[in-house]
Amino acid sequence: MKIAGAVAALLGCASAAEAASKLNVVTATQDLAALATEVGGDHIAVDSIARGYQDPHFVEPKPSFLLKLQKADLLAVVGLQLEIGWLPPLITQSGNSKIQVGNPGYLDMSQFAKILEIPTTQVTRAEGDVHPLGNPHYWLDPENGRRIAKALRDKFSEMQPSDAGYFNQRYEDFGKRLTDAEKRWDAAMAPYRGRKVITYHRSWPNFCERFGLQVVDYVEPKPGIPPTPAHTLEVINTMKRDNIKLILVEPYFDLRTPNSIAQATGGTVAVLLPSVGGVKEVTNYFQLFDYDINLLVSSFAKTK
Ligand SMILES: [Zn+2]
Repeated sequence: MKIAGAVAALLGCASAAEAASKLNVVTATQDLAALATEVGGDHIAVDSIARGYQDPHFVEPKPSFLLKLQKADLLAVVGLQLEIGWLPPLITQSGNSKIQVGNPGYLDMSQFAKILEIPTTQVTRAEGDVHPLGNPHYWLDPENGRRIAKALRDKFSEMQPSDAGYFNQRYEDFGKRLTDAEKRWDAAMAPYRGRKVITYHRSWPNFCERFGLQVVDYVEPKPGIPPTPAHTLEVINTMKRDNIKLILVEPYFDLRTPNSIAQATGGTVAVLLPSVGGVKEVTNYFQLFDYDINLLVSSFAKTK
């Protein structure tokens, strides 16, 4: 008993010391956490704030978020004002100087990604549009996943140089697995390239550009603005005119309007996941695309 106790105490100390030496990474979303884990493996500790089943534009702050931010060495955010409604006050209140905007522990991933829908005229949130700087749902193109992973490798290596080789090896391995997976996803989507779809929110421009789908209209009249009867009627008319049968809805939106549109047009509603953690079984970046592409393939098959 004595020996077992002593060993347990030693192990406890060792793991506590190990935890203290690990880079403590906090991400705004589970997608960034998944990519951080791909690169950082067990040489970093990763936690995310928003859950993948929540609308990342509108997250209700909780005291537990502050605790996470207080301990962070690095905070990785999506940027482009995705988190503007909830994250900035938490960063300030955390009092953690490392992760304040402009400091080395604050990393905005949007600067590394290919960004679509950048407005050519000034757009303000006063008009209700929650995408005023371009589309922030950019992680839904695997190429952007690769770019985010690369930027994380560089940042982790800068902050924890003794593990640079480890991070690089994991980044290279992730890239290879992603290239293989993309071949699989491309093959699955090949029969449906050029298909037109309606989506609830503008979450999918990067995904649809990458996999050859055409988004013709949105259930929301503007990003962040709930459906209106007049706009819903327009969507119904567009679907009938262009023979569009598929309406893609993020898991956190009310299904009543999409269902009524489907009923009026003979269409189908598919709840596609914009994020890792959107459902329990989708726990990494690969599973996210596997889930969505499987669902799209079965939905297109159903709608013919
Ligand atoms: Zn959005």
